[in-house]
Amino acid sequence: MAYLDHAATTPMFPEAIAAMTELLAMPGNPSSLHASGRVARRHVEEAREVVARVLGCRPAEVVFTSGGTEANNIALKGIAWSEREQNPAKRRIVVSSVEHHAVLDPTHWLQDSNEFDVTWVPVDHFGRVTPQALREALGDDPSDVALVSVMMANNEVGTTNDIAALTAVTREFGIRFHTDAVQAPAWLDVNFAELGVCAMTVSAHKVGGPHGVGALIVSRDCKITPLVHGGGQERDIRSGTLDAPAIVAFAAALDVVSERRTTEVARIRALRDSLVEQVFAVAPDAIFNGDPEGRLANNAHFTFPGCLGDSLLMLLDAQGVECSVGSACSAGVPQPSHVLLAMGETADHARSTLRFSLGYSSGASDVDELITALPVALERGRRAGMPRGAA
Ligand code: PLP
Repeated sequence: MAYLDHAATTPMFPEAIAAMTELLAMPGNPSSLHASGRVARRHVEEAREVVARVLGCRPAEVVFTSGGTEANNIALKGIAWSEREQNPAKRRIVVSSVEHHAVLDPTHWLQDSNEFDVTWVPVDHFGRVTPQALREALGDDPSDVALVSVMMANNEVGTTNDIAALTAVTREFGIRFHTDAVQAPAWLDVNFAELGVCAMTVSAHKVGGPHGVGALIVSRDCKITPLVHGGGQERDIRSGTLDAPAIVAFAAALDVVSERRTTEVARIRALRDSLVEQVFAVAPDAIFNGDPEGRLANNAHFTFPGCLGDSLLMLLDAQGVECSVGSACSAGVPQPSHVLLAMGETADHARSTLRFSLGYSSGASDVDELITALPVALERGRRAGMPRGAA
């Protein structure tokens, strides 16, 4: 079996499993005052320090959540609401057009409920937001902008954004900036303090940690109107009993990443480049999407013209090769990937994509299996062709 879908989720590191297992056996609510509670609290606070060290923020800036989706919802809604409470003129949010649905959907929700106007920032052919595009999206008078949100690394095509260059644009207007960095920490040295953002989303299961835990890093001066009310945990930004075993495992995973990243980036980039070369050898008409240079080391994203991405995915899966398509399915019809459309691709090309994403556990045999299976999948996929009438 070849698992080439690390951008969807990563296997847990043994260190993270060990840390989680140890805590699962302990009682203790981190909010309780008794000895067991204090032990659980100590584990959470130690984990908070590790997360802060790896991500370049202060421990007090780490707000644990149930994952990237919740953190993005808290950032988009909570910051926008808080900014508008402080200044009712702030009725606009500015968001890149290639965000993950965990940012797109709360943005659409804020727009559809007439809470905020939205300006979508276009991307270039590589899927990148340029400082100039952001400047134009802000317009002549950005005093109505409550929040800007641009992702650090795209989950489909792997293109990375220079967040510090983008916050340099918003800084002169004092506009709040959030970045979804979920895909980044395994491959990039993320330093919150140097980015100029007020909030940053991360998720454990993309870095060798467990599902269902993540964090929103929130600078101390950034006010957030909470979405969930309750026990007032996590600076009152995110109420709810903390999942100590998952948090400790998240920190253990980040610790492994920070130790191994430099070596793994070099190894996986070479493996990815070899994958790309070999894919072209068996599929010369394939199109490589995204920036050849400014992209995550583990990402290879292709269009295979004349083949539906969903069909190829199933044909590869039948041969034990697991990967992903960017497009979503609506009413049984595969929809083109919004990312590829925003990059200027045709709808047909945007439905003919596959993403191969490597991880710390990947090796040459995974690529070999893909290269054996791909010609068979392409031959069958081409025979099936593209369905008519899909938008
Ligand atoms: N943001 C990005 C860029 C992602 O890739 C993902 C997951 O695929 C998420 C957010 C959602 O994170 P989670 O699965 O932790 O809710």
